[in-house]
Amino acid sequence: MANIESNIGRIIETIAEAALRSGRNPSDVRLIAVTKQVDDGRIIEALQAGITIIGENYVQEAQRKFNALGNRELEWHFIGHLQRNKAKYAARFIDMIHSVDRIEVAKEIDRRAGVEGRTMKVLIEVNISGEESKSGAGVNDVMNLVRDSSLLCNLSIEGLMTMPPWFSDPEDSRPYFRALRELRDRIDEEEIPGVSMKELSMGMSDDYAVAVEEGATIVRIGRAIFGERS
Ligand SMILES: *Cc1c(COP(=O)(O)O)cnc(C)c1O
Repeated sequence: MANIESNIGRIIETIAEAALRSGRNPSDVRLIAVTKQVDDGRIIEALQAGITIIGENYVQEAQRKFNALGNRELEWHFIGHLQRNKAKYAARFIDMIHSVDRIEVAKEIDRRAGVEGRTMKVLIEVNISGEESKSGAGVNDVMNLVRDSSLLCNLSIEGLMTMPPWFSDPEDSRPYFRALRELRDRIDEEEIPGVSMKELSMGMSDDYAVAVEEGATIVRIGRAIFGERS
């Protein structure tokens, strides 16, 4: 398997090229290294190659890694489905939760963040394709979810996240990325107090260049950095 450092270098270059192609500033796109199932040694290699944001799908796995690696200048992003009973652990050390898709989850994160004396940055996860198997709020429910969540004082709503269906040709993902950006713009126009729509978390190993062209500000990449998961 190719080495982690050169993988990261190539990804950063690809992000920059995609940003420039679409008239954007490469520094407006942040790279999250998705470290599910990746051992600490390989994560440390990624950190040495310049990674500053870690993305995890499971709270317990994230917490263990945070304890092992956390005394570094790192941001920890939670990108998986958050069970309500895990919100209290996430509230202690996670910097941003990408997967708020129901008001019940938003309320629980708000309550737990309050207990910890923290403000939690959150993104609203959108099921942009409408596939039944996908998590995320339905496109027609997002506006109300943003409005309701905006009233929770320990949450800072910062934008939207999505996972389009998987395609072998990344160009097929483009309409979904574009739809998320357009939804973001519509919400932004509402000027809901306390809501920022600056972040668009979209794009993974196979399609991040297209996502950046369509406005991604955060890409979440695992396999292209660390190789295939077992
Ligand atoms: C695993 C995962 C990723 C990274 O996927 P790769 O295909 O390994 O790049 C991104 N986002 C979410 C929500 C994930 O679960």
